[in-house]
Amino acid sequence: DGSVMRIANSPAVLAQHMQRTGGKVVTRFPPEPNGYLHIGHAKAMFVDFGMAVQYGGVCYLRYDDTNPEAEKQEYIDHIAEIVSWMGLSPWKEYIDHIAEIVSWMGWSPWKVTYASQYFAQLHAYAVQLIKAGKAFVCHQSKAEIEESREQGLPSPWRERSIEENLRLFEDMRRGLYKEGEATLRMKMDHKNENPNMWDSVAYRIKYVQHPMAGDEWCIYPSYDFTHCLCDAIEDITHSLCTLEFESRRASYYWLLDVLDTYKPVVWEYSRLNITNTVLSKRKLNRLVTEDHVHGWDDPRLLTLAGLRRRGVAPASINAFCREIGITRNANVIPYHKLEHHVRLHLDVNSPRTLAVLRPLKVVLTNVPEQHSSTVQGATLPGRLESQAYDLPFSRVVYIEASDFRLQDSKDYYGLAPGKSAMLRYAYPITVIGYSTAADGSISEVAAEADLSFVAGGGKKPPKGVLNWVAQPAPGQDPEHAEVRLYDVLFKSEAPDALGDSWLEDLNPDSLQVVQGAMVNPHLAATAKAFDRFQFERLGYFSVDPDSKPGQLVFNRTVTLKDSFKK
Ligand code: ATP
Ligand code: MG
Ligand code: MG
Repeated sequence: DGSVMRIANSPAVLAQHMQRTGGKVVTRFPPEPNGYLHIGHAKAMFVDFGMAVQYGGVCYLRYDDTNPEAEKQEYIDHIAEIVSWMGLSPWKEYIDHIAEIVSWMGWSPWKVTYASQYFAQLHAYAVQLIKAGKAFVCHQSKAEIEESREQGLPSPWRERSIEENLRLFEDMRRGLYKEGEATLRMKMDHKNENPNMWDSVAYRIKYVQHPMAGDEWCIYPSYDFTHCLCDAIEDITHSLCTLEFESRRASYYWLLDVLDTYKPVVWEYSRLNITNTVLSKRKLNRLVTEDHVHGWDDPRLLTLAGLRRRGVAPASINAFCREIGITRNANVIPYHKLEHHVRLHLDVNSPRTLAVLRPLKVVLTNVPEQHSSTVQGATLPGRLESQAYDLPFSRVVYIEASDFRLQDSKDYYGLAPGKSAMLRYAYPITVIGYSTAADGSISEVAAEADLSFVAGGGKKPPKGVLNWVAQPAPGQDPEHAEVRLYDVLFKSEAPDALGDSWLEDLNPDSLQVVQGAMVNPHLAATAKAFDRFQFERLGYFSVDPDSKPGQLVFNRTVTLKDSFKK
């Protein structure tokens, strides 16, 4: 985006960074390990890592782990069991997952750091701040702070002496206060028009084990205190974040000014939102823990793990991020824009195969019962890289149930009594009869195949072309598979706008499981979890890790055509 580049290229900024980093661009991607990363984070990574790559710089992966969660209180009683606590906490899972998914997305962090590794340094900065007369120990409760802020009044503890503040802050550190009894607050400007300048809290007391720091600390630095100082400590040249942090720029620079540190350039861009889904980790966490979806990697979620499981390639996600651009416009991006990039990539990269989702048996009456032959399919028809593969052909084939109708019509290219269609890569067939089940549904079709047909041999094939799977040997059914079809997770475009009732907007039909789909033997023999294929006419599918030998499970990543209509 123009404005980021303008900043990156401005002579003043370059001169400042020349002195600090030799002119190298240094960025950071700072996720909080409190959940799995989602496509919004893909945008953040595209901005943070992407800018470093573009300018030959480096990017840190910095875990923003200053917030040991209050709900972990139960573990405090087990101080001796730090190790097992770490095993029990999802924290380690989140840390590991983030590292893994960042690399899956194609980014390589220059260094992996943790805000918590700077706790001692941050504490020293806090002491320095007190000594500069710019911080005070406050005993107002949360509610009292709110109240005096509303009235534009200072905290009654604001004017304590430096000596007293130093002593009381040390008491806080030594655990002489209970939680909520004292905070360290920055002495900013309680009359400023920006509420983020109203003497923000720098440290609060939490008797919580920290996953990295253990029980070394009972005071923890706030985001406002930590983020800018970590950026300064790491010589971040460009600190890029989302727009909700714009109003915190003032406090960011206030602190760095008072402590007289190096100052990164801060620039904000809009958060990514996508239609018919939610992206905040708090909401994702509820969907997962309340079992509305099956885990953080449910293919209906736009978590990166969910997208991966659905069959989406990182290249598609990054291409999508490139297309939407890095702007400051708040907006909800239509989901079909992501699908467009998913299709573009899969079209070029996924081998084609034939499968049938809802099979209807067709007996080719002129093919002998013991007949067994193969025809050749093409993995990428019409392309040089295409490879041939074998499809068994025999007397019994299965077609898509929806490709047979009793009533023919002009714009219909499937089968009907007396009508012909082409079995893809094989022969034209003509319907000569059918039988019905007790409930009136079609149970079986009889047809004749034109085995003399040769592709390009002068005979005009019928217009309709069908996907099909044959019995690999007489009397032996094709390999069955489970196929999971997905629709949007939420019915309305902007579930975030629904307030507390967002969960009521869940689409009850977001997952449709089709049992008894049929696939060809070459697929059954070679498909591995996460492999991607195009099932001709049906869409792009990827192999779900739930697959077991003899029981493949596929996720439909996306249909072949954009179903989006204006
Ligand atoms: P969430 O509300 O989902 O928990 P967060 O901002 O608290 O989001 P972090 O893990 O702290 O999540 O975010 C790490 C980085 O990713 C931050 O720089 C943040 O601004 C960015 N980020 C998070 N969500 C989005 C989004 N939807 N679009 C763009 N960037 C995002
Ligand atoms: Mg955050
Ligand atoms: Mg968050």
